[in-house]
Amino acid sequence: MLLKRPSATGFVTRFAPAPTGFLHLGHVASAMAVWGVARAFGGRVLLRIEDHDQLRSRPEYEAAIIEDLRWLGFDPDEAPVRQSDRHALYRDALHRLDAQGLIYACGCSRKSIEAATGPSDGEIRYPGLCRDAHIDPAAVAARRVRLEPRVLSFDDLRLGRIEQTASDQCGDLLARDRAGNWTYQFAVAVDDLEQKVDLVIRGEDLLASTGRQIQLAELLGRTSPPTFLHHPLIVDATGQKLSKSRGDTGVRELRAAGHTVEEVLGQAAAALGLSPGAPISHAEITAKIQEWAGQ
Ligand code: GLU
Repeated sequence: MLLKRPSATGFVTRFAPAPTGFLHLGHVASAMAVWGVARAFGGRVLLRIEDHDQLRSRPEYEAAIIEDLRWLGFDPDEAPVRQSDRHALYRDALHRLDAQGLIYACGCSRKSIEAATGPSDGEIRYPGLCRDAHIDPAAVAARRVRLEPRVLSFDDLRLGRIEQTASDQCGDLLARDRAGNWTYQFAVAVDDLEQKVDLVIRGEDLLASTGRQIQLAELLGRTSPPTFLHHPLIVDATGQKLSKSRGDTGVRELRAAGHTVEEVLGQAAAALGLSPGAPISHAEITAKIQEWAGQ
């Protein structure tokens, strides 16, 4: 068995692409994991367009992603939602945390943080420079959430029990940046709570984010964390994560070159290790995933 079965049917999961590029085989593999697990074990799929990054998000990418997903046969169970339509929810969440004394205004730039911590090639832990500095909230847009040291544990259906201490990894979490954008971490924690997502299926590249999202959701009143499934990342021949700009793996290009849905699914299924790469149908994918979970 490579996968633990979700503990109950009727769970809610989501596919949450950022509209910062066209759909490529990495997304297809991820969508296959999301819809495949939902279909195999009786869950519902929400589609959430994660356009929190207003600089890089484009409506034409969003339209193309939705259209390509439909072509591939990945239909959500509800109308898609878009993060840029959900500012009121994020504001409300921030106010709730503020009322608990957990929010402070932050005047730091990346540069000033690096000047304090020294350069790093990994994630930089925010050293708390503004934690007790009483920066005037009217002077800056950026807000951080105090994350006290806590060990967060969660179950991953593929990786087992995982423990993380967010305060050691990232320090106090940035909820809104200096430009006034909600951050990925904050928006996702609010959305997964508000949309009652109880199974988060996404790539392993986001594994390090999970503990902090659980801690944030807890501060917002979530009583039990979602279950997680972090799937292996689809990499190219040089071991790099597929990037959205690569024409050779873009769904648009594969469609234009005359590939069928089953052929595109077959390529993504091979990359996930589900099948050797021959064309594959949705029913076969569901059966494979059930087999993985020892059904
Ligand atoms: N929007 C993220 C991405 O496109 C996924 C976020 C998530 O699944 O939590 O990589």
